[in-house]
Amino acid sequence: MVSDSTVPASPSFAPTRPSQQRMHTPDDRLVHLVLDYVSERLSIPETPLDHPGQKAEVDAILDGLVTREGMDAEKVLDIYSEHLSKTVLSADSPRYWAFIPSAPTKAALLFDMVVSAASLQGISWLEAAGAVAAENQALRWIADAARLPAGAGGTFVSGGSAGNLSALVVARDTARRRLVERDGEHARHRRLRIAVSDQAHSSVKNTMSIIDVDPLVVRTADHRFTGEALRAALDADGDPGSVIAVVATSGTTNAGIIDDLRGVGTIARERGMWFHVDGAYGGAGLFASSVRELYDGIELVDSFVVDPHKWLFAPYDCAALLYREPRLAKAVHTQDASYLDAIHHDDGSYEWNPTDYAYHLTRRARGLPLWFSLVVNGTDAYAEAIEHSITLATAVAREIDAAPHLELLREPTLGMVLFRRVGWTAADYDAWAARLLKDQVAFITSTSWEGETVGRFSFIHPATTLEMLREVLATTV
Ligand SMILES: *Cc1c(COP(=O)(O)O)cnc(C)c1O
Repeated sequence: MVSDSTVPASPSFAPTRPSQQRMHTPDDRLVHLVLDYVSERLSIPETPLDHPGQKAEVDAILDGLVTREGMDAEKVLDIYSEHLSKTVLSADSPRYWAFIPSAPTKAALLFDMVVSAASLQGISWLEAAGAVAAENQALRWIADAARLPAGAGGTFVSGGSAGNLSALVVARDTARRRLVERDGEHARHRRLRIAVSDQAHSSVKNTMSIIDVDPLVVRTADHRFTGEALRAALDADGDPGSVIAVVATSGTTNAGIIDDLRGVGTIARERGMWFHVDGAYGGAGLFASSVRELYDGIELVDSFVVDPHKWLFAPYDCAALLYREPRLAKAVHTQDASYLDAIHHDDGSYEWNPTDYAYHLTRRARGLPLWFSLVVNGTDAYAEAIEHSITLATAVAREIDAAPHLELLREPTLGMVLFRRVGWTAADYDAWAARLLKDQVAFITSTSWEGETVGRFSFIHPATTLEMLREVLATTV
């Protein structure tokens, strides 16, 4: 017999530590622990708002939790559910009316778990044909609502910010290529600009800084960007040829105002400018027949963004990005690496690689929760749920009209209501909102309107009721 010291044992790749064995082996107890938590969370009739957290408090909860040997899952889940989650405001509470709330459908939330459990990625047709085709079916539903041509397409990205950035990179590079073809190489270094209104979302300004394009800021009368205002700004400008794109908003985040899409889009067409519409918040209104006419002209877009994680009831994070001519986006965003050659065919076989339509590579198939919910619930349920917020905003506006100490600042078009409490300062709005949150009655944040701090309600959740709003308005007396 040969001793161990002279012949090395053949190396074993079997995990030795119990924690390592555990990590990738089926674990019934863990499955039930987490699924029970999820099932409980999904059956709460009205999600509580919960409270903001203090740094010292959350630091104390987390202190020392990361260890070499790991910790029992039940204990960790308990720390999360009893302590950490209490410092996370529930955006899906029907009493959350700050910023933009969230109200994912049960079907979408549950399917989000499937996307995770099945490691569903959505990079390429080669790797994920079924997932990609299903996501594209959901994108087509949105494209149809915007009356985009059959060839339109795109991908789901993490949010409106990522969508605006990806689209405007395509706008810039497409314009640059055309300028170079027309004017020669020196056009490669020409400063380019994008026309935006003074109401454009902060992510659009960020995008311009990232992609090194200057804004042509068009002042709006009454906060709405019109074709007339764009034409006047271009006519008064010393270098209109450098303005290669224009961004309109279909539902401003602050007030829900839909720009003059037909007017702005028509001028963009006339002058060969790229027309991008940021519908991150309000794009969902396309499905509400009561306001559909306000979106007239949306069919002129070159690119369009809408966030299903806002008003299309999908979980975070999910934004739909569509292009009229996806090949232009593909030419800009396709990543070229030898190890990726396998996902690109030149043999004419069908390929749709979502990765080619934005500045990402690896991506979660984040459009699938929306797809599942849409197919399960049907399109009528979506239309009704969206209409709910519009009807509610109008009803709240009438309550405000009827209260002598309140003033409506603008007739709501979508689900946003801006109002003034006569005599209140910014500190009064803050104290009021703090009290409502402390009492778990509502989460509201004030906003600024024409230089003044004012009250704002933002409605998304179909379970938000007029009674809840009456209760809150009564506290302003
Ligand atoms: C929310 C919003 C964005 C940003 O979207 P994210 O999903 O937060 O990145 C952009 N534009 C408008 C009009 C928005 O409402």
